[in-house]
Amino acid sequence: MLSVILPAYNEELMISKAAQVISEILDTENIKNEIIFVDDGSSDKTWEKIESISKEYFNVRGVHFSRNFGKESAILAGLQHSKGDCCVVLDCDLQHPPEKIVEMYRLWQDGFEIVEGQKISRGNEGKLHTVAANTFYSIISKVTGFDMKNASDFKLLDRKAVNVLLNMKEKESFFRALSSWIGFKTATVLFDVKERMAGESKWSTASLIKYAVTNITSFSTLPMQIVTLLGSIMFVISIVFGIISFVQKMLGQALEGFTTVILLLTFSSSVIMISLGIIGYYIARIYEEVKGRPRYIVSHTCGKDG
Ligand code: UDP
Ligand code: MG
Repeated sequence: MLSVILPAYNEELMISKAAQVISEILDTENIKNEIIFVDDGSSDKTWEKIESISKEYFNVRGVHFSRNFGKESAILAGLQHSKGDCCVVLDCDLQHPPEKIVEMYRLWQDGFEIVEGQKISRGNEGKLHTVAANTFYSIISKVTGFDMKNASDFKLLDRKAVNVLLNMKEKESFFRALSSWIGFKTATVLFDVKERMAGESKWSTASLIKYAVTNITSFSTLPMQIVTLLGSIMFVISIVFGIISFVQKMLGQALEGFTTVILLLTFSSSVIMISLGIIGYYIARIYEEVKGRPRYIVSHTCGKDG
């Protein structure tokens, strides 16, 4: 059986459309399936829509979060509640073309354990967004060691891979990169990002920046090593200035150079503060992980279980 997982946050306009389209495609291909909507604490009528559709279609189930926990958590909850031998994750705004699920499923039948959806085009985005996204993807590709440029959350995972992901203890995970990190026999399927049919994108600039920082730091401690580098540079500078002032002292011209002192003082203290900030960020992350809070809280479920 194939489990289709759809994270949904304020998608009231898309729920029934998504269920209908996906069921139709999979039924004509004779693929036994279940569809799991994970309502990520929506504030609109998304959950009511999921409940009513789960009464209409016997293969639809729903999981409702107590508040918004973010897409990563929604994906994880979907995987946790899935029963299939393989799982497909896709956006419920249908920007990930559902026809491709069949292609992914056939590759899985041929023995591939992970099928990655790769974007051919990025759909319509603003100039600034494209620049920011490119920067993020080049950094994340460097730190993870995988080419993430065209990666998406549209993937098929074998049960084995799903179990590995579910057993990871990380609170703050990055689904897109973790699925490459765990390895397994992988195939890729190319797709075009379609226009959003209804509703609007849930990403603000602030949330994208936060997403980028979280994901880079969850794969790399490089920022902390930059602190060491800055410290070394400061050390070299201080030796140079030390020698200069010693020589000046010897020559009896020691009173000059007040500007240099001020510049050095402000420069080094800002470097120290930035460094403390970076280290503090990692400590905060450790603190979050150590607390061991759940990644999401389910308040309701609906649909026939099993
Ligand atoms: N989503 C979610 N939780 C969130 C934000 C988004 O579950 O906090 C879901 C959303 O409902 C959609 C998918 O993640 O199914 C992708 O979101 P969106 O379409 O807003 O992102 P974009 O396509 O613009 O990158
Ligand atoms: Mg979208």
